[in-house]
Amino acid sequence: MSRRPCIAANWKMNKTADEADDFLDPFLPSQSADGPEVIICPTFLALGRVAERCAGTSVRVAAQNMHFDDSGAYTGEVSAPMLLDIGVDGVILGHSERRQYFGETDEDLARKVRRAVEAGLEPILCCGETDAQRESGDMEAVLSHQVLTDLAEVHTEDLDKVVIAYEPIWAIGTGRTASDGQAQEAIEFIRSLLRTRDDAKADLVRILYGGSVKPGNAEALLGMPDIDGALVGGAALDPDDFGAIVAAAGNG
Ligand code: PEP
Repeated sequence: MSRRPCIAANWKMNKTADEADDFLDPFLPSQSADGPEVIICPTFLALGRVAERCAGTSVRVAAQNMHFDDSGAYTGEVSAPMLLDIGVDGVILGHSERRQYFGETDEDLARKVRRAVEAGLEPILCCGETDAQRESGDMEAVLSHQVLTDLAEVHTEDLDKVVIAYEPIWAIGTGRTASDGQAQEAIEFIRSLLRTRDDAKADLVRILYGGSVKPGNAEALLGMPDIDGALVGGAALDPDDFGAIVAAAGNG
């Protein structure tokens, strides 16, 4: 089963447009179309600049959030047509920081994921358990609820248009990476959830690992059979570190 690896940089609330240029200057010339799919996810304010710089290259660009409606009285929000209008290819949805700090619910996410797919944006849907949920044996229940609810409004034939990122919350920004085995086990479980929707599609969906991925641990994680790439936070702020992770996926 061949799934093209995908390595995404979640810059979170970091980098102005000029700082994004400083990253792209050395990074873009090092990338080629025959490697993994590479996606940069800047803030809304740097998205236009990054999309312009990446146009005509193999590097794709995604937002970190969007609204499920196309327009309306939603102060501070941005919609799918607005992202498409400036050349954006995809969108991170359901990052744990948005769930935790901004009250994003699985019901919101079901609408957002459906709208992204309908609009032709590639969603990177994040899911993952807290430390306490893992310790109390609830990891599978949490992942089941998140994944099955968030994908509920996506037509089965479109399931492989969604990229899923398994990001255990205890591993995000903490330096505590999940072991290769822990990440593989959770991602294999997520794939088994997709099988309840469609067996053949489940084999096509790319599922990434996220949580303190670094150049030093990327190759081992990416070598696991069900791990199809990485969503990278801290280490994606540096072009050399992020380039090394992309290179590790090329070797995986
Ligand atoms: C993330 O927030 O998506 C993430 C994986 O962050 P970090 O790599 O810094 O843990």
